[in-house]
Amino acid sequence: MIALTDNSYLDLKAGVWDTGKCSGCGACVAVCPADALYFEEGEMVTSPKSNGYCKQAIDGVQCGACYEVCPRVGEQSRETIGKYLDLITAKAAFDVPRRQSGGAVTAILSNALDEGLIDAVVTVTEDRWTLKPGSVVITKSDVLISEAGSRYSWWVPLLAALKYAAIDKKYRRIAVVGVPCVVQAVARMRGSNNDLVRPYASSIRLVVGLFCTETFDYASLVLGKLKAEKKIDPTQIRKMDVKGKLEILMQNGDKASLTQHELRECVRKGCYICTDLTSLLSDVSAGAVGSPAGSTTLIIRTPTGRSFVENAIKNKRLTITGSADIPSIEKLAESKIRKNSGH
Ligand SMILES: Cc1cc2nc3c(=O)[nH]c(=O)nc-3n(C[C@H](O)[C@H](O)[C@H](O)COP(=O)(O)OP(=O)(O)OC[C@H]3O[C@@H](n4cnc5c(N)ncnc54)[C@H](O)[C@@H]3O)c2cc1C
Ligand code: SF4
Ligand code: SF4
Repeated sequence: MIALTDNSYLDLKAGVWDTGKCSGCGACVAVCPADALYFEEGEMVTSPKSNGYCKQAIDGVQCGACYEVCPRVGEQSRETIGKYLDLITAKAAFDVPRRQSGGAVTAILSNALDEGLIDAVVTVTEDRWTLKPGSVVITKSDVLISEAGSRYSWWVPLLAALKYAAIDKKYRRIAVVGVPCVVQAVARMRGSNNDLVRPYASSIRLVVGLFCTETFDYASLVLGKLKAEKKIDPTQIRKMDVKGKLEILMQNGDKASLTQHELRECVRKGCYICTDLTSLLSDVSAGAVGSPAGSTTLIIRTPTGRSFVENAIKNKRLTITGSADIPSIEKLAESKIRKNSGH
């Protein structure tokens, strides 16, 4: 039975692109069977574009794939931590030099690659010199380990890389690492009956969701605010961390920071309506808040998530360090909901 729908990109354009709601997850770009959707390069690109060749809008052929997977169609959840099986703090049991928190995400995924539980990881890396982010498909644990750490000036249509992994390479056990809007799009793929979306859903074995308060436009933050305005050379940045303000550690040990006020104009517009901090629809979510320094908070939500975590512990790749401080996670989640509910 063919299950397709009547919505075309024109509905997405009217309801999401033109209203400033697009998160930039890239799910619509990934699933378009005509490859008609794309992102332009540049500063503060707020949504995709269409080259006009839409099977549905032009030929009247039923499709609806792009609309089906968009996380910005419908209401946003107002839950803070959501449903879970276990909430722990953990860290990698081996050295992950570039880890953001405890390296737990890298430990779980590198163990899964080595054990043959997954074929590939779809995630975001960055150019070491320019800090320019890019979506990638990683199949080797040593590459994954060398690419640990968070990309805050993330803005790449991450799920566009899923097309390469699922359709071009035909990987059937893919792990996706993403911020909450990406996780929501993957959840829509997994719940879809649309025949054009199903090959994506059936290829995804694990979804690791990162906590996220907001992300920044690369050109506005790195090239504009840091390089041009503050004269901070991106090639000399060792690590960035967002803890209210943006904390920057330079290669030579110097520190710099940007206040929330300074960061505001670099925040991607689609983040202003986002109310999901903890990646409510993941298999396992990971964040810094709720853990002591050097550990990662892990919200284990599904039996699949639990089996990946347990396997990493069994193989001595991941160590549990304690239980998470739930009130501090709730507090941050509530403040995100409060801040973004009015838009
Ligand atoms: C944009 C952004 C905002 C965040 N905001 C918060 C916050 O406000 N509060 C909080 O507690 N935690 C936040 N986090 C999560 C936190 O920074 C860590 O990612 C998390 O604690 C896991 O740490 P880890 O050491 O276990 O991960 P690591 O072992 O360092 O692994 C991180 C993995 O995530 C992948 N990755 C990095 N950036 C991205 C990205 N943008 N999209 C998809 N995959 C990516 C890497 O490729 C790597 O595989 C944020 C993360 C991101 C990317
Ligand atoms: S939120 Fe994602 S799926 Fe929706 S229009 Fe934007 S890029 Fe496409
Ligand atoms: S704040 Fe929301 S919309 Fe913005 S990147 Fe994070 S999850 Fe996506």
